[in-house]
Amino acid sequence: MGQIVRGKCLDISSEGKGVAKVGKNIYFVDGLFVGEEADIEVLYQRAGVYFGKVKKLYTLSKDRIQPKCKVCTSCGGCQYQQINYQTQLEYKTKRVKEALTRIGGVKTNVLPCLGMNNPYYYRNKIQMPYGKDRKGNVVYGFFKENSHEIIPVKECVIEDKRAASILWDIKELVKQMNIPTYNEDNGRGILRYVLIRTSYHYKELMVVLVTSIMNFPGQRNFIDALVKLHPEITTIVENINKRHTNVILGNSEKVLYGPGYIKDKILDLTFEISASSFFQVNPVQVEKLYQNALELIKIDEKSVVLDAYSGVGTIGLIAAKNAKKVISVEINRSAHENAKENAKRNGVTNIEFYCDDAGHFIDNYQGKIDTVIMDPPRKGSDEKFLSVLIRNSIKQIVYISCDPETLARDIKYLSSHYGVTYVQPVDMFPMTAHVETILCLSLIGNKTSKN
Ligand code: SAH
Repeated sequence: MGQIVRGKCLDISSEGKGVAKVGKNIYFVDGLFVGEEADIEVLYQRAGVYFGKVKKLYTLSKDRIQPKCKVCTSCGGCQYQQINYQTQLEYKTKRVKEALTRIGGVKTNVLPCLGMNNPYYYRNKIQMPYGKDRKGNVVYGFFKENSHEIIPVKECVIEDKRAASILWDIKELVKQMNIPTYNEDNGRGILRYVLIRTSYHYKELMVVLVTSIMNFPGQRNFIDALVKLHPEITTIVENINKRHTNVILGNSEKVLYGPGYIKDKILDLTFEISASSFFQVNPVQVEKLYQNALELIKIDEKSVVLDAYSGVGTIGLIAAKNAKKVISVEINRSAHENAKENAKRNGVTNIEFYCDDAGHFIDNYQGKIDTVIMDPPRKGSDEKFLSVLIRNSIKQIVYISCDPETLARDIKYLSSHYGVTYVQPVDMFPMTAHVETILCLSLIGNKTSKN
């Protein structure tokens, strides 16, 4: 490794790396875009493919722009900050189309990826490790890839703007009050991470201090000083993580200030979000995503809808407005409990919640289901769930996916009985290579579908 090869970028991989072919070898290169030629430094090889970084660029893509963030090439979070937004959207549309063709074996029209008007500062959740640099200064930012070294970041340009000054002032207070930051190498110290969650629709903001022990010394003074500096903070939670692991949150929590949760809205419904809840991170695009998905399906007062992989119940609760009944199934106990609370809070009564594996549930469910909305995690669904959709001849399926490759795999499985009628990629994660997709399936021979 370490050798240099000169190559031209022909394509973009699903992880957002430039793909170059030199001789018989394929190289995946960070920060190299279609049409660019570069000297590539080879870093490592995996499964017959070489991974590298740009050593010297000879030709620049006309779509390149100056990135807003200084550390965007080293942090690893934003694969596309150096390329203009229109091109990012085109890459994403292409990724979905290619996955469906190559893996799914279906040729279908894919609509252009739905972007944001302002693709920066969108995330409602930010988490950063706190620690010391080599000189002993308190720093916060992102871990350098495969290391415990923190790359300092003053402002992350995809995170809600309100977070930056709070993170900075926490660092200043930590210094002043001598609160020991955690050392990932030896497990000593107290403050590990700070997580900030912001509400888009309400003036509410949560700070979560992830610490290695409960009740750290000087805690009361620290909280008082922080709230005085930032009256926009409406709640502070301490999350205790004693484990020597890279999982950020631990299992126990203590509310130090305010109610311990914030509220936010999606379309007409209000949701409570606690420190560890799963909640979509892009509040602007999530409304477009749900609206788009729900417009596609015919739901009326006779329809029974299954919301599978339902998380805290967001999509199902919105769909319930027009349906006879929604059945919501989610495997995670705390998300399931949150979903029930969310129904109560919004006065939605025509929804039932089950805490179960989606495949196991649908296999044993006796009642009729007209429409399935499914939003599985990155790894996609499984044959157990998909085979029951086929067996029960479910008329309409809306599949929401955050991974085009596993989506395509699942569509291939369903394609003997279902036709793809609509594919709309939605950009939930601008500046990164991630893409969300809404895909509609209709039972072959079914005439009742809208499409
Ligand atoms: N639809 C929700 C959540 C999507 S995230 C929203 O948009 O907010 C995917 C969810 O699937 C997670 O909450 C995860 O806990 C759940 N999940 C993962 N595997 C599952 C399974 N086998 N059965 C049911 N739910 C599952």
